[in-house]
Amino acid sequence: MAGPRVRFAPSPTGFFHVGSARSALFNWFVARQHADGVFILRIEDTDADRNREEWVDGIIAAMQWLGLDLDEGPFRQSDNHPAHERSVEQLIAGGYLYFCDCTGDDVAARKGDNKTPGYDGFCRDRHLERGPTTALRFTTPREGHTIVRDVIRGDVDFANATVDDFVVAKSSGAVLYALANVTDDRNDRISHVIRGEEHLSNAPKQIMLWEALNRVTQVDVPLAVYAHLPLLVNEQRKKLSKRKDPVATESYRDQGYLPEAFVNYLALLGWSPRGDEEIVPLSQLVEQFRLEDVSHSPAFFDVKKLAHMNGEYIRKLNPEDFLERSAPWVRPWSAEWRPTDQGPRWSESQFDEGLFARVAPLVQERITTFAEIAPMVEFFFLEEVIFDDAAFDKAIRSDVLAQTLLAVAIERFDEVDWDATSLHEATIEIGEAFGLALRKAQAPIRCAVTGSLVGPPLFESLELLGRSRTLQRLNDALARSSQ
Ligand code: GLU
Repeated sequence: MAGPRVRFAPSPTGFFHVGSARSALFNWFVARQHADGVFILRIEDTDADRNREEWVDGIIAAMQWLGLDLDEGPFRQSDNHPAHERSVEQLIAGGYLYFCDCTGDDVAARKGDNKTPGYDGFCRDRHLERGPTTALRFTTPREGHTIVRDVIRGDVDFANATVDDFVVAKSSGAVLYALANVTDDRNDRISHVIRGEEHLSNAPKQIMLWEALNRVTQVDVPLAVYAHLPLLVNEQRKKLSKRKDPVATESYRDQGYLPEAFVNYLALLGWSPRGDEEIVPLSQLVEQFRLEDVSHSPAFFDVKKLAHMNGEYIRKLNPEDFLERSAPWVRPWSAEWRPTDQGPRWSESQFDEGLFARVAPLVQERITTFAEIAPMVEFFFLEEVIFDDAAFDKAIRSDVLAQTLLAVAIERFDEVDWDATSLHEATIEIGEAFGLALRKAQAPIRCAVTGSLVGPPLFESLELLGRSRTLQRLNDALARSSQ
């Protein structure tokens, strides 16, 4: 038997939603599980009012970032317009469609208080001719049931009476989503339609159209298998909101998430690999994934868990990979790709590649995203320390003891052996003299040297920064505290 033919069919109406990325990934899994599986990208760009070319570029770039390579496409649905029109003509000829000139207001006025959703079938038997204001509706059977055979949900039964006579083409001639989508799926011989749950209610309409097209064309294309993926929800168990939740896949790339971590996390949204381990290499995800095992309960898109997972992936990188993958965030001027957000505050001439290579292992242990690197290490490359004012006020300006401690540290650090261990020991001793634990004793030192109270391990950092720059900064901070 030939392998599956699957498609990802996004509409370019906004940022590349994480839910869409999950749909793309699950389709890709199904294709990649078979040597002859085919993964197609079809951009459903027929809604000219809502589509933007930059969103198309965003989808393609994000899929490349995630490594979801294509076997066919990207196709543009708008290029298939002749085929959509052909479907319309064939369905008219087959008696499946009728012309309708009702406006939304007409329908509402007729319905009055009757709240039954959808069209009331008014024009069904009026036998109108095509005209400048006539849309085309599908004659939905009034009796019987349409069963959506869904791999994830089982058979979902729709009473045909609950499906209204939906519009397939507007009076302008524009062919609407349901028919354009089915025409393309049939022509592309799609075997599995894998998409978000929000499309489940479209499925009976699309099955009716698919079967009607099979009859009118006398080409019996086997109906695709459906799989409607569970909804993604936020912490409050509400559907992810485009405005309030961080749903743009692009933003994760720009913050410095690793695509392999992001893919691994997406795979867990409604599905789980075997065993307890959630960090699973891609090849195993592909091998183990089964549409049948996808859950139909809503999946929590947990940004904290995603961040944690990204941190784990970062720590697993070998040092050379870490340096290479850091490049866009630390030396954007020579990187092939750079994040759209603001880059580091140092310039090319201030950046010291060799120093960064030595600093890198310190940050690799601590960050959750690559965007965190620059603020954490900028004190190595900038001439002047950029102070977090609140931290400075708390750790130095308002604390006379801390200022005295700094003065003592300046003397000790002038003669101590310049390595992390000696600096560490010296600071313990200084702290003891003041009755302070190491954590307290190192706070004003860290703040004076780095501008902040958090950052990479202090003594290793001081070793790398060097004696003279460290002493200079301790002196400057002391001077600053009395200004
Ligand atoms: N263009 C539709 C969307 O982006 C795709 C629906 C489908 O996959 O059938 O929601």
